[in-house]
Amino acid sequence: CGIVAYVGHREAYPIIVKGLKRLEYRGYDSAGIALLNGGLNVYKKKGKVVDLEATLTEEELSSKIGIGHTRWATHGEPNDRNAHPHYSSNKNLAIIHNGIIENYDSLKKELTARGHVFHSDTDSEVFIHFIDDIYQNTKCSLEEAVRLALNKVVGAYAIVIIDENAPNQLIAARKGSPLVLGIGKDEFFLASDATPIIEYTNEVVYLNDYEIATIRDGSLSIRNVEDIPSTPYIQKLEMQL
Ligand code: GLU
Repeated sequence: CGIVAYVGHREAYPIIVKGLKRLEYRGYDSAGIALLNGGLNVYKKKGKVVDLEATLTEEELSSKIGIGHTRWATHGEPNDRNAHPHYSSNKNLAIIHNGIIENYDSLKKELTARGHVFHSDTDSEVFIHFIDDIYQNTKCSLEEAVRLALNKVVGAYAIVIIDENAPNQLIAARKGSPLVLGIGKDEFFLASDATPIIEYTNEVVYLNDYEIATIRDGSLSIRNVEDIPSTPYIQKLEMQL
């Protein structure tokens, strides 16, 4: 179970693949990546990161933004369908999630009654449908929809969300599961620990529980689930690879 995400001026795919491999020690059963390469595309597969890579040799993977995940299944067996990222209904949003949503069953019933169709057995897919439902129905920003959703979600999470209509934006949040943000020059990284980031920058922000980080058009803002903003505390790492 690991998370890697990137937005900036470099190619996202190689950074994410390399980062996911660095997180392999955490253990996992499936891997997946979402990129904005002429649309929001999700590539995912049961097995190792190299198995995913092997299926993508013919694909055009150029994108300056992307999210990647290695899954340790808790809800739903390890298979291609249950691998992350997961799409929202109209496929304009995708999420990666580490952790467990404890009230996913009641949320899923509510959302199903409201017309949502699910394509996996995971708790994580419920998360993105829930956020999307709020986003569609309250006409607020995606960041605000995430915040409202997090107030109703019970459990542990590190999440990153990508939006097809916002090619310079990533929204991330955590509670209970680790998430580190790396700040480079006109680029940002997110990962479960600093090992995928350290090669590119030594400036990191360790997100606190209940914090939501929005990276948009080259700047970072953090607020918590109660909508209170905070100034990112940037630490300089001296870690060696
Ligand atoms: N609960 C989620 C799932 O089973 C995420 C597991 C993880 O942390 O990798 O898909």
